[in-house]
Amino acid sequence: MSGSKARLQAIEAVKGYTPPEGILPEEAPGDLFGENVFTKSVMQKRLPKLVFKSLMATIEHSKPLDPTVADVVAAAMKDWAMEKGATHYAHVFYPLTHLTAEKHDSFLEPGGDGSSIAEFAGKTLTQGEPDASSFPNGGLRNTFEARGYTGWDATSPAYILDNPNGKTLCIPTVFISMTGEALDHKTPLLRSQQAMAKHAERVLKLFGHEKPDAVVSFAGAEQEYFLIDRSFYLSRPDLLNAGRTLFGAKPPKGQEFDDHYFGAIPDRVLGYMLDCERELFKLGIPAKTRHQEVAPGQFELAPMFERSNVAADHQQLLMSTLKRIAKKHGMECLFHEKPFSGVNGSGKHVNFSLGNSTEGNLLLPGDTPHANAQFLVFCGAVIRAVHKYGGLLRASVASASNDHRLGANEAPPAIISIFLGDQLTDVFDQIAKSGGATSSKAKGTLEIGVDTLPVLPTDPGDRNRTSPFAFTGNRFEFRAPGSLQSIAGPMVMINTIMAEALDYIATELEGLVAGGTEFNAAVQKVLEEIITVHGSVVFNGDGYTDAWPVEAEARGLPNLRTTVDALPQLITEDSLELFSRYGVFSHHEMHSRYEIGLEQYILSVGVEARLTLEIATTVILPAALRYQTELATNLASLKAIDAEFDTTTLDEVSAAIKALRAGIVTLRAEIGHDHDGSVEEQAAHIRNEDLPAMNAVRAAVDELETLVADDLWPLATYQEMLFIL
Ligand code: ADP
Ligand code: MG
Repeated sequence: MSGSKARLQAIEAVKGYTPPEGILPEEAPGDLFGENVFTKSVMQKRLPKLVFKSLMATIEHSKPLDPTVADVVAAAMKDWAMEKGATHYAHVFYPLTHLTAEKHDSFLEPGGDGSSIAEFAGKTLTQGEPDASSFPNGGLRNTFEARGYTGWDATSPAYILDNPNGKTLCIPTVFISMTGEALDHKTPLLRSQQAMAKHAERVLKLFGHEKPDAVVSFAGAEQEYFLIDRSFYLSRPDLLNAGRTLFGAKPPKGQEFDDHYFGAIPDRVLGYMLDCERELFKLGIPAKTRHQEVAPGQFELAPMFERSNVAADHQQLLMSTLKRIAKKHGMECLFHEKPFSGVNGSGKHVNFSLGNSTEGNLLLPGDTPHANAQFLVFCGAVIRAVHKYGGLLRASVASASNDHRLGANEAPPAIISIFLGDQLTDVFDQIAKSGGATSSKAKGTLEIGVDTLPVLPTDPGDRNRTSPFAFTGNRFEFRAPGSLQSIAGPMVMINTIMAEALDYIATELEGLVAGGTEFNAAVQKVLEEIITVHGSVVFNGDGYTDAWPVEAEARGLPNLRTTVDALPQLITEDSLELFSRYGVFSHHEMHSRYEIGLEQYILSVGVEARLTLEIATTVILPAALRYQTELATNLASLKAIDAEFDTTTLDEVSAAIKALRAGIVTLRAEIGHDHDGSVEEQAAHIRNEDLPAMNAVRAAVDELETLVADDLWPLATYQEMLFIL
């Protein structure tokens, strides 16, 4: 059923909704933490000492996995999982979509004599063979050669997923083709992590740390999302199929009136959040919920930061948990970056830092001149990386859905710049002025190795929320990633461009020191050069103003507005060379990712275009015609009795119907051309022709929404969806 009846029924269902009872178990969250995870302490209890030690060397110190431990680990994992009630296991991997893929297999195998035995060998733990033909591969796998392999990622803990239908032991894995090419998000993340670590360790050695422990990157992702009642969700084919509303007039009561909503979280949402938190705790995901006050119906959840590959896995698990639990509470959780036009969109701020067990966080300003110098070098690496490869960072967050958000007046702009804050900017200014490590110190300059830094603020109130890449006291926050996307893509970019910058810095420093330059003077010189060449990426002003794009252009910073503009950054000669130099992507792999990016863009906007056409033609137009008939009948009756009549409303409705019809005709014609030409041409056509044609249809529909009688209007309104919870 669709149309006005469906809408009215949804409203009734929402009003009559009673939340599930007794959903919250008695235990304190602390007791639940990691309950369903094959944690370090579980391993310590269950594994022979040597095996445990060997595995820990891999997990904590990035040593290669010793294949001979697999059988023992597999047996311990299986016993643990079966004791907890698991009957199946699954290799979990992240194909090049937003989704998580799992292939489930039973532990039980036929024993030959009609019985069954529980089997889970080391080989089964370390390698799987899902039928991979249906995952995007951008030409890396011919369809006749559809096999791909999953391989155990021992550094991300296995866990048990508790479903109403049973329990499954989930093993995080990479997903690669027969020929070893990456088909997933995790493989390049691990490769980029390794590259970054190698050069970070070279820098640490230069600072006198003889044998630095393995450096890793950390990520903490703040997830924004919307909640709406599921009855509304099910009543709107656009939300159901595209994840966003393709129609909907701005509510009379919009964001500007959110004072009513501020403060208190509705009981129903609070119940949901607590339920989610418990489920996430069981999975060992350190979640911290809180209210997001910007848009009505919008919330945020920020788990504690973790190693970036674990954080990326946990992020995916978090999204599927939020979705699953929402259904239980009669709601739908929307991760689309712009589910409601004219209302704030959703992002996923990725907080990034790097460090190791001996040095701690390398982006934390120190309190001695030596520690300061080290901090400034890592900061300098970020400045070089983001300036040199801002286009790649932009490409890593490019998607059809994020295009609606980036550059809209509430998300960071598509121009990638860095916010350092006044104090730190001043420090770099002083370095720039120092004139290359002169022995006599000029006034207002900072001498590396001698001076300490001013105290840098860590107060969130002090931050610039309009910057896409902001220093926040002990980390950088990349604000451009979309709420729907995996954080793996952005983290791959950050790790890789940091690898390049740290490689550059280490090589420069090594050269200078070998040439007899004193170490602190060498650091000063390298930093001075970095800030002189790359300082134009630092922008502490308001990124939302109209003046910024103009200034950014003068500074030579790219402004890649759409996915179609941004994706080609992946395959420039420079980028291809960068990725292959650091072993993150081969040329072939990168080309395939570029193509997948374009294909996904074409697919998702294509679906939206066809949905727009269908809903406008079969749902909206009939409702508008019905109302037009009602008005015409009314006028005819009035005329028949010579009563006074006024055609204004009918004229307005008729004009909007005419505009809608014209829009439908144009959109239909454009959709007809969606498959002409190369993928690049198709994507450009969809952006240049389909999207504007969809917008024209939408404008006519939204106009009609303000005219047509409410009882005839077929789609749940923004007002209803955003305010009735
Ligand atoms: P804010 O709203 O101030 O940006 P939140 O508390 O919402 O802060 O989120 C901050 C995120 O940054 C959390 O996920 C947190 O774990 C993460 N974070 C904190 N310190 C670091 C760090 N050193 N490296 C990476 N992420 C961090
Ligand atoms: Mg933040």
